[in-house]
Amino acid sequence: MDGHEGGIRDRCASVSGGPDGSGAGGPGATGSGGPGGCAAGRSGGQNVCAGRPLRRAVFLDRDGVINVSPGEGKFVLRVEDFRPAEDAAEALARLRAAGFLLIVVTNQSCVGRGLLDASALDRIHDHMRELLAGSGAAPDAVYCCPHSPEAGCDCRKPEPGMLLRAAHEFGINLSASWMVGDSARDIETGRAAGCRTILLIAGAPGGATAAGKSPAPDAVARSLGEAAAVILGEAGQRR
Ligand SMILES: [Mg+2]
Ligand SMILES: [Zn+2]
Repeated sequence: MDGHEGGIRDRCASVSGGPDGSGAGGPGATGSGGPGGCAAGRSGGQNVCAGRPLRRAVFLDRDGVINVSPGEGKFVLRVEDFRPAEDAAEALARLRAAGFLLIVVTNQSCVGRGLLDASALDRIHDHMRELLAGSGAAPDAVYCCPHSPEAGCDCRKPEPGMLLRAAHEFGINLSASWMVGDSARDIETGRAAGCRTILLIAGAPGGATAAGKSPAPDAVARSLGEAAAVILGEAGQRR
């Protein structure tokens, strides 16, 4: 393993060679247990993994959630076009402080479509981490699906593949976790993985219309800050 500083690494299926299987990307989530971890908390409601409590995560769509959406059907293709959403860093820091893993799950079919190469996408994600790290809000992991819609992969949202993989690698209790996104596809993904869901309806073209589509999210929020408040309120009640 090459051991990125900060324990953060991209998990781009078939872009960076796929999972390295070390499971070492997380900050002690699965620890040295690494791959092979656990069944992600889906076995009979067990809330432990190899003797450790499973962790809770907030899965975050990227465009329109962490950064300003480039617009429906458009992509962020250059570092300078990655503009952080206004209250994203603060909201993420609050969730982190409450013990949630922060895991970005993003479809970037721009790679599969040949609009962006994998190293350029890595640079954009490095930039994202730098922006967020200053607020103590760098994500624990970034999972991305680089495939085109026609590829039929199991990681492109609304397939829950990225969430299931993260759950396995980090030891996440999906039913105690949340998916936040700005499209109906994100809500579908979160529900398919057994998470609760929040739809962001501000700052995203089509966001408001997505709210009316099935499946219904557990909550609707106008910003990541509002979504964090929903999550933290709920988390408080469940302790
Ligand atoms: Mg989005
Ligand atoms: Zn994929």
